[in-house]
Amino acid sequence: MNILILGGGGREHALAWAFAQNPKVDRLFCAPGNAGIAEQATCVALDVLDGAKILAFCAENAVDFVMIGPEAPLAEGVADALRAGGVATFGPGREAARLEASKAFTKEICEACGAPTAKSQTFTDADAARAYVAAEGAPIVVKADGLAAGKGVTVAETLEEANAALDAIFAEGPGARVVIEEFMTGEEASLFVLANGTDFIVIGSAQDHKRAFDGDEGPNTGGMGAYSPAPVLTPEVTERALAEIVAPTLAEMARRGAPYQGVLYAGLMIEGGAPRLVEYNVRFGDPETQVIAMRLGAQLLDAILACAEGRVAEGAVNWADDHAITVVMAAKGYPGDYAKGEEIGLPAIDLPGAQIFHAGTRLSDGRLVSNGGRVLNVTARAGTLGEARDRAYAMLDAVAWPGGFARRDIGWRVLGG
Ligand code: ATP
Repeated sequence: MNILILGGGGREHALAWAFAQNPKVDRLFCAPGNAGIAEQATCVALDVLDGAKILAFCAENAVDFVMIGPEAPLAEGVADALRAGGVATFGPGREAARLEASKAFTKEICEACGAPTAKSQTFTDADAARAYVAAEGAPIVVKADGLAAGKGVTVAETLEEANAALDAIFAEGPGARVVIEEFMTGEEASLFVLANGTDFIVIGSAQDHKRAFDGDEGPNTGGMGAYSPAPVLTPEVTERALAEIVAPTLAEMARRGAPYQGVLYAGLMIEGGAPRLVEYNVRFGDPETQVIAMRLGAQLLDAILACAEGRVAEGAVNWADDHAITVVMAAKGYPGDYAKGEEIGLPAIDLPGAQIFHAGTRLSDGRLVSNGGRVLNVTARAGTLGEARDRAYAMLDAVAWPGGFARRDIGWRVLGG
């Protein structure tokens, strides 16, 4: 079959790498792709938000299946447009994608189905929001409603910080909406399920590292590294998360006439064995996909196709007793200002179980150059997380790119600092 992947980051490179190993695949396209993805797929310049152009491309190139990577096309309803045009597509429609696109909507769903999450209230009035914050006290969490690429959340330690966050959100003008949440303590982990309607299977767990620097210091980023599985998601905690959070959410979405199809990424806070929902994402995580794809290889596509075709249970994967880790190499200055176009020398060594996924790269006159904040995802798999970590850092240390940096402590929760 011929497959088109939408997106061009490390997540999409990991998907392309895993799909390319599956004998079902004849031709693989990726829009827009990047220099690494170009090794597995034909990269094409297509606007990932333009459903009509994507449909035309699918018709011209006999594409049988579209895999949507990022959230923006899902929130725009590109999955609806493609399915309406007769192309099988992985990812929720616009209505179901509100589980990520609107935090207020997610809160409403949790309340309706009884899924445990932080106590919260949603406001469109600045004075009412300030009064609520004053009454609740700090620490407290202030979230702009709507997609904000990870930048709309303030975990405020003081009332001043909370009020400053409210000022910034309401300065956006009329229509601003804010969700104010109780501050939850515990350990965070991500659980990934493939769902179609009320049927689902678990496709993996992972833990991310959001802060830029070692020791979880520095500004928040899109994610500096991840590993899978997440030990805090024991079989018992996972069962509880599925029974108390995931299954009721899927049932509620179906009841509302917006059945969910795609990967549902539940960001969880776990304390004393009890999971609570922090957020949903309606697509694979980045960089979590890199570790999940590394562990699953070719079977990832079979699971995704089974899900899209409504044969969810048939996609159940065979887990090896293994661990994977990914370390992000970012451009110095990220998540603030950084240079682009710097030459990168990739190692010639070929370590078994290690793979470099490209996030922000392009080819310039045949040279590999940086083209984003997060640039490479050095990923490895092994029998233990420690071995996987050592393999990934051995590979990373062989990358010749003076303008890049990486955290040295990915996996610290399991392996120690
Ligand atoms: P992203 O999708 O990049 O994770 P986002 O903008 O969707 O970010 P959230 O995931 O809702 O935002 O929040 C970002 C981070 O803030 C969480 O990963 C968590 O660490 C912290 N956080 C959010 N809500 C709470 C809460 N109620 N209590 C404690 N920490 C929280």
